[in-house]
Amino acid sequence: MSDRIYNFSPGPATLPYDVLIQAAKDIVNFNDKGIGLIEMSHRSKEFIQVFDECEALLRELLSIPQNYKVLFLQGGASTQFAMVPMNLLGQGRTACYLNTGTWSKKAIKEAKLFGTVDVVFTSEHTNFDRVPSTGDYMIPAEAEYLYFVSNNTIFGTQFQSMPETDKVMVCDMSSDILSRRIDVSRFGLIFAGAQKNMGPAGCTVVIIREDLLDRAPENIPTMFRYKTHADKHSMFNTPPCFAIYAIGLVLKWLKNIGGVAAIEKMNQDKATLLYQAIDNSSFYKGHAQKDSRSLMNITFNLPTPDLEAKFVNEATAVSLDGLRGHRSVGGCRASIYNAFPREGVKKLVHFMEEFAKHNG
Ligand SMILES: *Cc1c(COP(=O)(O)O)cnc(C)c1O
Repeated sequence: MSDRIYNFSPGPATLPYDVLIQAAKDIVNFNDKGIGLIEMSHRSKEFIQVFDECEALLRELLSIPQNYKVLFLQGGASTQFAMVPMNLLGQGRTACYLNTGTWSKKAIKEAKLFGTVDVVFTSEHTNFDRVPSTGDYMIPAEAEYLYFVSNNTIFGTQFQSMPETDKVMVCDMSSDILSRRIDVSRFGLIFAGAQKNMGPAGCTVVIIREDLLDRAPENIPTMFRYKTHADKHSMFNTPPCFAIYAIGLVLKWLKNIGGVAAIEKMNQDKATLLYQAIDNSSFYKGHAQKDSRSLMNITFNLPTPDLEAKFVNEATAVSLDGLRGHRSVGGCRASIYNAFPREGVKKLVHFMEEFAKHNG
């Protein structure tokens, strides 16, 4: 598609073009049934099939064990910041959090409403330029769970390997789910907003080990209980139908290109191109420490904020869009999730070299 720009947006983010074309068609007339996808009952035979396929593909691609439920919820990843402690914590009990950026900070704030929060690691004093290795913190014996964010979308850091603990692990994987292989059985609960690496906004996927469903105290409202949604197969109320459908298409696309192991290699390759461009120049400086670098969000600075603004503007003019860093940190950020094409990364690398030559 010649009129498509390269979209480096951190989320909602770029999706495979074929998925967009298929969705555009199905919104108007689903499977030639004379009814549009977004006007169909969520209890119709057609939609149930869409739903079941989506869940089956997710289970297959992530090798989700049988004793885990997969939930498709609304409210965004941010609602999970409260739902997790509502269901798994409780007054007088303690949870352990790793503070690696904006999203963990927000989760910590919510958890404090429900119990005691022990923040055993923070990289705030170095502007969240790193994530810890397992030896960098101690988990108290009484902790109900260890909470962390696997990829810090705003600061561009990522756990290269997951923490080692015998505690229940709870992970916000909003910005790197399906980007690399993971062992789901090591986690108690994984959640992810769809709009970074899975589909459009409007759906949050929760993968929860079954034995955790019964932990919620009696006074948790119905809609905020994981068990409500698990028992009703995410159909206690109207689920986010369109988002679930579109996630299904993205999962099919991912399976067709070889699944998670294949995309992991492509993600490594794409990120390496960009980090090499940063490391080979004295003009650009990466924000993340090298052993904490994200394969999804590449954050970097130029010598001055003025040059950063100029860089973003000139990039936009040549269809390299969405490179401005998050308003809380400044600088530049290239978000290159699963669906972001390698050609776009190469074009950015070339642009960076030219820009440095003319402005360095
Ligand atoms: C974007 C993001 C969120 C917030 O997602 P919403 O769906 O907007 O609530 C939470 N965590 C991480 C890691 C994110 O990247």
